[in-house]
Amino acid sequence: MTQFSDLGLSQPVLQALDLKGYSTPTPIQQQAIPPVLEGRDLLGIAQTGTGKTAAFMLPSIDRLRESDNRIPFKSCRMLVLAPTRELATQIATSAKDYGALAGLKVQVIVGGTSVNKDRNKLHRGTDILIATPGRLLDLVDQKAFNLSGVEVLVLDEADQMLDLGFIHALRRINQLVPQERQTLFFSATMPKQIKELVSGYCNDPVQVSVTPAATTAERIEQFLFMVQADEKQALLELILSGRHKVPGEFERVLIFARTKHGADRVVKKLGQRGIEANAIHGNKSQPQRQRALDEFRRGKVGILVATDVAARGIDIPGVSHVLNYDLPNVPEQYVHRIGRTARAGKDGIAIAFCAEDERAYLKDIQRNTDAEFDRLDLPENFRAVVEGVGPTKPPPRGATRVSKKKVRPKPFGGRPGGGNPDGAPKRKPKQKHQARKGRPGGRPGGNPGGGRQGGNRRRGSRPRSAAG
Ligand code: AMP
Repeated sequence: MTQFSDLGLSQPVLQALDLKGYSTPTPIQQQAIPPVLEGRDLLGIAQTGTGKTAAFMLPSIDRLRESDNRIPFKSCRMLVLAPTRELATQIATSAKDYGALAGLKVQVIVGGTSVNKDRNKLHRGTDILIATPGRLLDLVDQKAFNLSGVEVLVLDEADQMLDLGFIHALRRINQLVPQERQTLFFSATMPKQIKELVSGYCNDPVQVSVTPAATTAERIEQFLFMVQADEKQALLELILSGRHKVPGEFERVLIFARTKHGADRVVKKLGQRGIEANAIHGNKSQPQRQRALDEFRRGKVGILVATDVAARGIDIPGVSHVLNYDLPNVPEQYVHRIGRTARAGKDGIAIAFCAEDERAYLKDIQRNTDAEFDRLDLPENFRAVVEGVGPTKPPPRGATRVSKKKVRPKPFGGRPGGGNPDGAPKRKPKQKHQARKGRPGGRPGGNPGGGRQGGNRRRGSRPRSAAG
């Protein structure tokens, strides 16, 4: 088996990897590190979770160490462009870890923070700068920074940068960096616009294409509720409070909503039921987003409701469940979303809520990703609960078939569902779970047999990734 030491990396980098506890390189690291060390341009078709950050960071750190160049005034030697503040911050953390013994200076600049502070910290230049394109150009326009010192340029999640409207910024940045440089270009998908961008940025790049480690996705079990749109909130509350048991033990639950407003609404309604959750989306300030992530990471608030853009690239270990409150209308997004669980060798559960008007999305996901769902039944008398006593009121005692005895401590929420007063996630003992195979054509909320969870549980199969 290939080891990091076989790839030509230096001792300080190998020692830093040792400290991180990484023993074997991932496929993208195996393929990308040798050509990057040689100074070749690279086109990596890969998404988060494949180990791509180390794939570009490790050899670049060595190249920066080897060259005698000094830190340029108001510029940087390596520039990494990332679409979101969260991803940029994460890359910076990795860069500091990997470069800990290499003595390189790492800085990060993202929107939503003080520009003045950024000006000051970049005044003397830096070895490695990780930046979102908007903030970077702000500083360039203010003459507080320039790109003339760039030796290595990385574009990470380029497709996402285009989705966020950074095309003009990227074209401009290409004009500002020196012709003589190395470019490492990463994208999960390769639409036409990305190909054009690649040809503008890269010079005869080595192409490396990987899907996320198969074992990761195979460890994600995928489940489906067919549920009416106006029942989703009630179902979510029943699940999170443990009143309607779903497979797996809650540790951290990442919930996806389609819109910022939708994410806020879910959080607010959960709060009204004593279930603490945070929202993360583009309308939140940078400190709010960081706090939500920190609280989620530390397990202080174990439920995070996110939109796609905010969640892209989030790498938090211990996400036990990804809950698709709204189905994404782009199948690849489904793969990205559920890839937030089953990280670092753990198992993961993905649960989708599909309403009548989302069936086309579900079909698209099944057609384009090979996802297979085990269908879960709604709680007994669920419609009556929703209609009779209001969507957020818990079902009357005994309304669900999950007996009180079986549902041990409530996983989330204080009042009135009981459980955990500080909102911290509690681990529950494993319970046997049953599900039946989902059929996209099934009845919405279909539970003719009266809500019992029945049938055979089957592992969901691995979805094909966007990268093919
Ligand atoms: P990335 O795709 O860069 O976002 O990395 C996904 C996760 O894998 C991060 O938590 C990395 O720290 C971790 N990782 C990267 N390379 C390795 C490796 N060779 N062995 C184990 N974990 C790794």
